[in-house]
Amino acid sequence: MATVSTIHSETKLRVTNPASGEVLAEIPTATAADVQTAIMRARAAQPAWDAIGPRSRARVLRKFVEVLNRQRSEVAALITSEAGKPEVEALLTELIPALDSAQFCSDQAERFLRPEHVQHANPLMKTKKGYLLRQPHGVIGIISPWNYPFSIPTTEVVAALAMGNAVVLKPSEFTPLCALRLQTMLRQAGVPNGVIEVVIGDGATGAAFLSSAQPVDKIVFTGSVRTGKQVAQAAAAKLIPVVLELGGKDPMIVLDDADVEVASSAAVWGAFVNAGQTCLSVERCYVHRSLYSRFVTACAEKTGKLRVGNGALPEIEVGPMIHERQLSVVERHVREAIAQGAKVLVGGERLTNLGLNFYAPTVVTDVDHSMTLMREETFGPVLPIMPFDTEEEAAGLANDSEFGLAASIWTRDRARGEALARRIQAGTVMVNDCISGFAISEAPHGGIKSSGIGRTHGRMGLEEMVRVKYLDSDLLPRMSKIWWYGYSQAFAEQMRGFVDFLFAGRWDKRLKGGLKSAAALRRKKI
Ligand code: NAD
Repeated sequence: MATVSTIHSETKLRVTNPASGEVLAEIPTATAADVQTAIMRARAAQPAWDAIGPRSRARVLRKFVEVLNRQRSEVAALITSEAGKPEVEALLTELIPALDSAQFCSDQAERFLRPEHVQHANPLMKTKKGYLLRQPHGVIGIISPWNYPFSIPTTEVVAALAMGNAVVLKPSEFTPLCALRLQTMLRQAGVPNGVIEVVIGDGATGAAFLSSAQPVDKIVFTGSVRTGKQVAQAAAAKLIPVVLELGGKDPMIVLDDADVEVASSAAVWGAFVNAGQTCLSVERCYVHRSLYSRFVTACAEKTGKLRVGNGALPEIEVGPMIHERQLSVVERHVREAIAQGAKVLVGGERLTNLGLNFYAPTVVTDVDHSMTLMREETFGPVLPIMPFDTEEEAAGLANDSEFGLAASIWTRDRARGEALARRIQAGTVMVNDCISGFAISEAPHGGIKSSGIGRTHGRMGLEEMVRVKYLDSDLLPRMSKIWWYGYSQAFAEQMRGFVDFLFAGRWDKRLKGGLKSAAALRRKKI
């Protein structure tokens, strides 16, 4: 694990365009002291931000929607230059979810933060009024990855801000410019200084969120399982709560009644969007044997037609991968699968003529679960397809994974799809669609098993950004409580009656218990 001592202020981060290698910026990285200063600035600014109330904060977030919408083309171009994805994907999969979640949070904040009345069934507690108060944690540390460098931090930041928190954001070292742009636009919308801090650096900068003398109050981490476990361990040592949005190996199940044309297009888009570098990518595809050969042929044909290149060109459908390290993971998975008997129908190689980081969209068959390609997150443009014979087998294959982020089921029979969805171990299961659940602001996003802990997005995502306080207020302040001191044999007997009154199976026993316990109301207490 990276330690704070590895942070040096003189270190500069070089940000490059993954398609062309062009240097976009050189930014000094934050030292441990810088991180501490950012946390303290955020802590100082947070009470006033909380005090203005949800309605005023919602107004600022609505203004942010306006600012972002006005600047959407420049932001999309920045995303493309920093992360490589086609500009249309930047608009569809980054800008729209970001705008929609800001809108969602501004619409929901006031109602969500209203005190929630808690009803008491127990007659002993009827003299009390109870409320759930939802209050901000204080300073939320958000650590984000490079693959959705704008939408992931934005959806998390706006939820944290709407709830009255201040945020210190550490974006991926590969895509810091998107986060700096987000900070600028939030400030333009009226988020006060200090309420949104951005610190730039690698893992060591992120580790300083927790190792600082005054750490953040909660961490919302999105990234790999390996780093997520390190963050969880560091947070556990200080009992700091965490949300972990980690990797996936999402299965796609194509049932025997599915529309081959639609499902094959979905598989190709689901596996190759953002060059396969999507946590919700179709990473494994299981197809009923009766459709298998038609489905594989359709996928291979459609994949062969995809236009790969620099995402800044409007006709490009698949951009570069982010860096050499990720590309070599993909190469290793495909190479090992081939050595174990897999067949590559399309792709399966680097496209060095296009630049450093390009890998051809690849369709692989003859795969099985002994292969790394079917077990570990590949996170690249590879679509492995495997046949199955029964739904039972398909569910077993889908669930045979360390991960549980999302899954998709394809069928003409929605009820059948929904029934199978209940048996799949995942945070989200989509019937007749894939990936797009992330863009539904009302839908919780997150995984089970190694895919993470907690949720972002939707009401559950807002819930992660608050501490729940139970406020209990007694309506009879001058009455001493029946259970206070002054115990006696008679009181014990009355209380036995009271337990009968509450829980006895027969109504006559309840009535008798009630009568027996009534005398306790007149009992003398100390
Ligand atoms: P990563 O784990 O390498 O890095 C993620 C972030 O953590 C970066 O900002 C990095 O600098 C920081 N970091 C690294 N070491 C740290 C440490 N010790 N303490 C604190 N922070 C540290 O992941 P990545 O390569 O940037 O992203 C790809 C991974 O993210 C994939 O596994 C993908 O599935 C996952 N992901 C998950 C979701 C989701 O919502 N579940 C979304 C997007 C990406």
